[in-house]
Amino acid sequence: MSRVVLKLGSSVVADDGGVPRADVLAGVCDVLAELHRAGEEAIVVSSGAIAHGVRVMGLNQRPTTIADLQAASAVGQGKLYRVYDELLRERGVTSAQVLLTFFDMSARTHYLNARQTLTTLLAWRVLPVINENDTTATDEISFGDNDFLAAQVAVLVAADRLLLLTDIDGLYTADPRVHPDARIVAEVDDFAQLEELEIGHTTSPLGSGGMRSKVVAAEMATAAGIETVICNGLQTASLRAVLSGEGGGTRFAARQARYSSFKLWLKYAKPSRGTLVVDSGAARAVRDGSASLLPVGVVDVLGDFDAGDAVEIAAQREDDEGGGSAGPGPTLAKGICNYSAPELRRVAGLKSADVREVLPRATEEAVHRDYLVLG
Ligand code: GLU
Repeated sequence: MSRVVLKLGSSVVADDGGVPRADVLAGVCDVLAELHRAGEEAIVVSSGAIAHGVRVMGLNQRPTTIADLQAASAVGQGKLYRVYDELLRERGVTSAQVLLTFFDMSARTHYLNARQTLTTLLAWRVLPVINENDTTATDEISFGDNDFLAAQVAVLVAADRLLLLTDIDGLYTADPRVHPDARIVAEVDDFAQLEELEIGHTTSPLGSGGMRSKVVAAEMATAAGIETVICNGLQTASLRAVLSGEGGGTRFAARQARYSSFKLWLKYAKPSRGTLVVDSGAARAVRDGSASLLPVGVVDVLGDFDAGDAVEIAAQREDDEGGGSAGPGPTLAKGICNYSAPELRRVAGLKSADVREVLPRATEEAVHRDYLVLG
């Protein structure tokens, strides 16, 4: 049995006028019902609430203010889910609507509750149809069109595969709408091979994603050991071909290094609230992955965070070493900080014994290695 997350972008769910593509959704639900009957587990992450709401409200284009987008989504979401629910019910599949936000998932208990709900639904043989809760959250409205949400869901449920369905056949060497000679990239084993491509932000008129956010979502999911495919969701036959392993679309191979579920949550779901700039010795120790970060290695504390918040860890820029200002270089790691920003500023650069003089009850590690993830 395998577990697959299918993400449908706005351009798959609705046409440029916001009218739901009934035939496409029926085709996707046919495929979902086939998977269900074969004993597979599927989860849908669907955009299209805003697109649908835009049409229902008779707006002539996608709104630009967050409040209007949120309201359009509220109008569209219930109606959109109803389409899925009916199509799936007609095919013998019970579905459930689940609305998630990154903010919800950034608290570990909420993350675990979301996982528990989703795995219980799957155990009940119910197919979850997920969207971002746009009423309170704006991440996916402003950028992403649910691409990141889908990657997070795939990580959350430890899916085997993530399919990002869009209105073109996959990732091209250039934007095929502009360059007719662009070729499809069939296989991506290494993200470095994409560096010379111009991966655009161009989106459909009613969506907010584009290829760039899909590639970043693929990077997230594959790092968690989840194979990801960007493919055409408008043609049921090509979707079937991708699902049965016959190929099609752009396949991103899963990477080997699987983090623990806690570290995946830390890396992808918990937002960073600040940056700790560290000296070269601490940077080396963190990079090796073997050591915790102690206050003595911290040269600067950026941002305002509480104890328990996630922070990025960055090496001091080389030209700053030994000099005055300590700007951050590239991020090395992310971790949960045991100190608030004001506390850490008081003890940065001090040896553990001196830290105890200033903050007698403080934990020795600023970031313990068990709460630290590289990259
Ligand atoms: N949650 C949004 C929706 O379903 C995502 C798509 C967008 O950003 O337009 O409409």
